[in-house]
Amino acid sequence: MKRKIAILGSTGSIGVQTLDVVEQHRDMFEVELLTANNNVELLAAQARKFNPNSVVICNGEHYGALSSLLKDEDTKVFAGIDSVVGLVKILNADIVVAAMVGFSGLLPTMEAIKSGKAVALANKETLVAAGALVTKAAKENKVPILPVDSEHSAIFQSLQGEKATVEKLILTASGGPFRNAGKDEIYNATREQALKHPNWNMGAKVTIDSASMMNKGLEMIEASWLFGVPAEQIDIVVHPQSIIHSMVQFSDGSVKAQMGMPDMRVPIQYALSYPYRLDLNTPRVDFPKLGELTFQAPDMERFPALSLAFEAHRAGGNMACIMNGANEAAVNAFLKGRILFGKIPEIIEKCMEKCSFVKNPSLEDIFETHRQAVCTAQDFCR
Ligand code: MG
Repeated sequence: MKRKIAILGSTGSIGVQTLDVVEQHRDMFEVELLTANNNVELLAAQARKFNPNSVVICNGEHYGALSSLLKDEDTKVFAGIDSVVGLVKILNADIVVAAMVGFSGLLPTMEAIKSGKAVALANKETLVAAGALVTKAAKENKVPILPVDSEHSAIFQSLQGEKATVEKLILTASGGPFRNAGKDEIYNATREQALKHPNWNMGAKVTIDSASMMNKGLEMIEASWLFGVPAEQIDIVVHPQSIIHSMVQFSDGSVKAQMGMPDMRVPIQYALSYPYRLDLNTPRVDFPKLGELTFQAPDMERFPALSLAFEAHRAGGNMACIMNGANEAAVNAFLKGRILFGKIPEIIEKCMEKCSFVKNPSLEDIFETHRQAVCTAQDFCR
């Protein structure tokens, strides 16, 4: 029996690499649904190649173009985020790969969980914004959330077969392009400098988050929700080679790490085939050639976004949602050249002070919080 897959965000970095894994194992997987925001040409090419039941282009302006590109195929063509949510609910998929960018992934991911489909989660913002609600819904519906983020996959892999008490999760961070840069240099960094990640080839949003180290803050919150471990038991260590993808420390002092070359297809494959592993033609580690693996403590002063994430998670309620919304708006403004790189954490901090705090937010509160955080951040960007 083939596993039927729905990929939300199929033309992004994770989506493309997911289809590469599928392509290497056509006998195991079948594509049911592909969705994209704007990239009509790539979505049409993917649909021709993988012949899904349905495709959705979220930006309705491109519906006509997509329909005509696929007029000779039997794939059904839809438009709009409502179609994504509706199809996730009714389609016969075993696993939904949530690879949309940012907060927009929350609603379809919730729908996948509510309709009892396993979720391969690449969209960390979903858990940052609404971790309590998402994990509760997953538990109630007995739906597994399988991590695609490389750090969380590493922790998930290290936990396999263990009944021991977890003492600590150790998240590794590459340190990004500004690992050794001075405070002023980071503050005034250009778009081009911030988009140049030393080890990982990823989308623009996560690459900017890596440069500010907000990405590691988001991942700390993601790990806390995924594995039920409080922030005090999560350490972050800078590991520039990105060979150790993260570690778990147990109560006897043993540490288990998952290693490999930095290649997202490995954690994607593990989420899709769990509890099995599949052959993959990814690069292999050459230890003598590597020579050494090094580690250093993260610098919260040069990377204030990291301490904001700890602060937001400690505050609880909707604070991480405020932080996430403000970050999305600030990163967007930075990518458009409207603000300096160093303004990103400053704007987030101001939004965390200004936006309304809700102790036990409902899903509606979360949507309202996100809207408010984005608007407030946009005001600060002007
Ligand atoms: Mg990651």
